[in-house]
Amino acid sequence: MSSNFTTKLSLRSLRLQATGACRPLTAAQRRRFFFNSFSRSPKPAEHADWSPATHGPFRPTKAQEQLQEQLRQPQEQEHLVHDASNIGQLDGHPAKSIAISIDGDPKVFDAVFLRDSCTCPRCMDPDSKNKLFQTCDIPEDLEGSCKTVVDEEKGLSVELEWKTDVKGYGPDHRTRHSVDWLRRAFNTEVGIRSSVRHDDRVFWDKNKIEKNNKWLDYDAYMSQDETLFDALTHLNRYGLLFIRNVPESEESVVSLASRIGTLKDTFYGRTWDVRSKPKAENIAYTPDYLGLHMDLLYTSNPPHLQFLHSLRSRTPGGESFFSDSFAAAHQLQRQSPSHFRTLCTFPVTYHYHHPNFHYHFTRPVIDLFPYPKYSEPTNLAIRRINWSPPFQAPFEARIGSSNSTALRSFVAASHAYEKLLSAEENLHEYRLNEGECVIFDNRRVLHARRAFDATKGERWLKGAYVDDDVFFSKLRVLQEKFEGSWVADGVVRHAVR
Ligand SMILES: [Zn+2]
Repeated sequence: MSSNFTTKLSLRSLRLQATGACRPLTAAQRRRFFFNSFSRSPKPAEHADWSPATHGPFRPTKAQEQLQEQLRQPQEQEHLVHDASNIGQLDGHPAKSIAISIDGDPKVFDAVFLRDSCTCPRCMDPDSKNKLFQTCDIPEDLEGSCKTVVDEEKGLSVELEWKTDVKGYGPDHRTRHSVDWLRRAFNTEVGIRSSVRHDDRVFWDKNKIEKNNKWLDYDAYMSQDETLFDALTHLNRYGLLFIRNVPESEESVVSLASRIGTLKDTFYGRTWDVRSKPKAENIAYTPDYLGLHMDLLYTSNPPHLQFLHSLRSRTPGGESFFSDSFAAAHQLQRQSPSHFRTLCTFPVTYHYHHPNFHYHFTRPVIDLFPYPKYSEPTNLAIRRINWSPPFQAPFEARIGSSNSTALRSFVAASHAYEKLLSAEENLHEYRLNEGECVIFDNRRVLHARRAFDATKGERWLKGAYVDDDVFFSKLRVLQEKFEGSWVADGVVRHAVR
């Protein structure tokens, strides 16, 4: 919270912050600092009486010691910022690694990172934000030196000068990074390395979803960004959302989906109709029972959001039901780790094989985030679930060997998983009325439909899809707008200049 408001603070506050940022270091911190600050080897003359026991890897120079002394004096610290003295590169000599004091601790950055992320108008086009040089143009032996400045736009910043800069950049080229930006860059790396993912998903069963289910009004969703943010946040947490008072029009589902972004076009069309018809090419277009499944698992990137708007609901039956496949996978993992492991590895092929379209894709039921730190996957390690029995193709691996039990293990594991998915206490059942639309995460929340009697009336749903990239892009835009931070790659990042 605090870092994104730093940008609005007065210069005086920035100086005060800088004071805080430069508090004296303990002896151990100092040793770490000097060790990390210089990858160039010390000149023998500078370090004649250096001892690793008392001075760390090598002894600081006189200039470094003087600056350390200054860091101990509070009044001098403010002076540091005024006079644009060095924060990290204490003797101002160019080096391959540069230590910058952030919140009182020296954080070490590779000079290549600081150079590569330069946002000056010669390095990044101010309008397109495109990079105007290539990372591969940075000399491998790049060195930089830095000093503190207060930038008009960025606030408290470091300014870097380059020795052996990218070809074509003269000695006048300077790179400026705000301390807020550097703090975020450092924290992001720590967050990514920790393998602990920020995860908003709330696993649910029947009780939980019925307590926390969300209904929003079409007009509010369409006109207010706060409501849209509420909608997307809820979808991210629970994977299921309902909209009421949707206008009776075939275009309404387009409006609902476009509010988030571009619709995903597939061979079913930009929008598609779910109603029964003779000799249907897809079981969805019959009045038959359709079991729990996900759409389009035979494609490399199946749709993320699915919208179903009820235009006609005049047949007996045809109730929809939903199940949280992540919650069931979590239950399975606790119940039988060996079944869970089987579903993480056994390859299942999906296909759509018709005269004009032939899609084919193989994936395991449970797809995990790479988790180097833990040998056993945790609930948060579940990245995707792939479950769509009606669209399965014949198995293509581990099908024949007389001594292989892989397929038998898969049957047992998938049976145990299916029991959890379709357990009464895990299902949310609802019969969509005309003028209502359900939005759900097709990569997480399984959907199904009871059979209906097509001779007794009309049942017509209008559907559309939105891709994951489009959904998360809009969610991040709204997170940044309303919360001043957003999540990417499982790490929270604060908005900074
Ligand atoms: Zn630049």
